[in-house]
Amino acid sequence: MFRIGFGYDVHRLVENRPLILGGVEIPHPVGLDGHSDADVLTHAIIDAVIGALGVGDIGQHFPDTDPKYKGVSSLSLLKTATDMIHREGFQLNNLDATIVAQTPKLAPYLNTMREKFAETLAAPADRINIKATTSEGLGFCGKREGMEAFAVVSLIKSSSDR
Ligand code: MG
Repeated sequence: MFRIGFGYDVHRLVENRPLILGGVEIPHPVGLDGHSDADVLTHAIIDAVIGALGVGDIGQHFPDTDPKYKGVSSLSLLKTATDMIHREGFQLNNLDATIVAQTPKLAPYLNTMREKFAETLAAPADRINIKATTSEGLGFCGKREGMEAFAVVSLIKSSSDR
């Protein structure tokens, strides 16, 4: 059987923070603000996984009020979410995600992100697609106030039971 989940996240851009997207640190004068490493792309993917499993949202599983998640690598949270997938007898079928950022150019980093997600989600890289777009200068992404990300995940269980 199949399950589909959707995830969305936004983080504000601020000075004196690294820019981490898909577990990759990207040279940039500003970075995303947040309790963890503020990896907006990975957060959207985690929320899509949690949505596909039907177990709430990222804030319930990894609360940003919990000191143990301060500065944590979001890829480690995605690894925990991957363990949840496997515990329920599912595996990742495919992942498609989009980052919205006016700058910097993200194309050179997308394949590295894909490989990191493949490893973390225990799935072949060809089941994972990571895209980036600008918002044509419009809105908070266009004004470089923040970045947002969207993700869709499908999970598959090979056995016939629900
Ligand atoms: Mg977030």
